[in-house]
Amino acid sequence: MEIVLHDVTKYEAKRTILSWLLETKMLHEFQKVSYVDKKTRQVLLEGIVRFEGIVCSCCKKLWSLSGFEAHSGTSQRRACASIFNNKGESLLDLQVQAWELLDSKVNPKENVKAAPSDENDDACGVCGDGGRLICCDHCPSTYHLSCLLLKELPEGEWFCPSCRCAICGGSEYNADGSSFNEMTVLLCDQCEREYHVSCLYSRGMAKMTSCPDDSWFCGDHCDKIFQGLRKLVGISNNIGEGLSWTLLRSGEDDLPSANSMNREQMAEHRSKLAVALGVMQECFLPMVDPRTKIDLVTHILYNRGKAEVNRLNFRGFYTVVLEKDDEVISVASIRIHGGLLAEMPLIGTRFHHRRQGMCRRLVRAIEGLLQRLGIRSFVLPAVPELLHTWKNAFGFQEMAPTQRLELVKLSVVSFPGVTLLQKPLQTPRWSCRCCCLHHSGGRRYPRCVAFCLSGMIIYLPLTSPRYR
Ligand SMILES: [Zn+2]
Ligand SMILES: [Zn+2]
Ligand SMILES: [Zn+2]
Ligand SMILES: [Zn+2]
Ligand SMILES: [Zn+2]
Ligand SMILES: [Zn+2]
Ligand SMILES: [Zn+2]
Repeated sequence: MEIVLHDVTKYEAKRTILSWLLETKMLHEFQKVSYVDKKTRQVLLEGIVRFEGIVCSCCKKLWSLSGFEAHSGTSQRRACASIFNNKGESLLDLQVQAWELLDSKVNPKENVKAAPSDENDDACGVCGDGGRLICCDHCPSTYHLSCLLLKELPEGEWFCPSCRCAICGGSEYNADGSSFNEMTVLLCDQCEREYHVSCLYSRGMAKMTSCPDDSWFCGDHCDKIFQGLRKLVGISNNIGEGLSWTLLRSGEDDLPSANSMNREQMAEHRSKLAVALGVMQECFLPMVDPRTKIDLVTHILYNRGKAEVNRLNFRGFYTVVLEKDDEVISVASIRIHGGLLAEMPLIGTRFHHRRQGMCRRLVRAIEGLLQRLGIRSFVLPAVPELLHTWKNAFGFQEMAPTQRLELVKLSVVSFPGVTLLQKPLQTPRWSCRCCCLHHSGGRRYPRCVAFCLSGMIIYLPLTSPRYR
């Protein structure tokens, strides 16, 4: 079976897990489905599948999956596991099947090669454009002199910003992978910057004798951001008016919470990512990297990281979806570079939900999350048509050249023709007593119970799927 990732014809229906199952041909329009009680195996309701929802046989009304479930009279909240097609397969089984077919397409095993191993990249690591570029003497990355604010070619060996220690800026390191010493370089799993062991010692890190086996963080803040984000993955956060937002991430291996997610949650999580990709592809023209031919939108959304050049490493990305009634309305891609800065290169809202403040609600939710994690600056690339909106309605500002140079060290995503904008995020005046993270506004205690991200006991909003 061939699964079409994206149908270019304009897609009118709501984008939901149900519409995705229809798109992937796992279900067909007008197919009969039934809601079955898990314990008694009794059929509670029957209906007909449409793109917009299920038409109930008893009342002829159109229901969303969760609406159909509520209509059946059960208090259960596992619609996909309880709705079956005429072959006895649940919508959950169908999601798993659809994903198995898609998996090889969305998660290719091979690395993204920028160039044959003896060649350099041919797009600038800062702006993504081609032209006259200088090459790093250590990795295949290339840059415009002007994007580095350099007037002339540096003499002798030159190392790109991502091949330098984040503390001292030096590029010399212990190249012998089998030995560990003060010149060994460690890579932080959150901010993805490199650090000399000796520089970390000078910042007060405890002495080490070997490279860490699992995740390693350059400091407490990166550790807390990483754990805080991973704990939020897959959790639905209500923001009123029937809207909720959820943080998603692709790939089982790098998803520690996969262990705590059951098959049902995992299938729903992956299906939602596929639905989110559909929304993004509706909002953005394909952005194909000329060198590698990869589609940047897909790679960012699925946080793919196996790339030889840093500009194509999207490992740190998370996808945020805004939903109402099972429908995905807006989608954003965010990445946090340590405590200083977060970026959002992509955000899109479905056509028929535009001009209703959906994007604003999602941005507000993301800003709240970033503030709770203690992030100080929020950056996004603005296309010329939206420059005015981002500045006037969202409070972003253009960046000074020196500020932009700071971003070079972090490999912030940029596209040719965009302007990078920045917004300072308010640092709350107090930090939480039990988790040490900053919470934005509100009274201390109730907000903390709802949002505490890294305490030993995690309090979740009652709408969390884990408490269903
Ligand atoms: Zn009915
Ligand atoms: Zn450039
Ligand atoms: Zn380099
Ligand atoms: Zn150093
Ligand atoms: Zn770090
Ligand atoms: Zn707390
Ligand atoms: Zn807290």
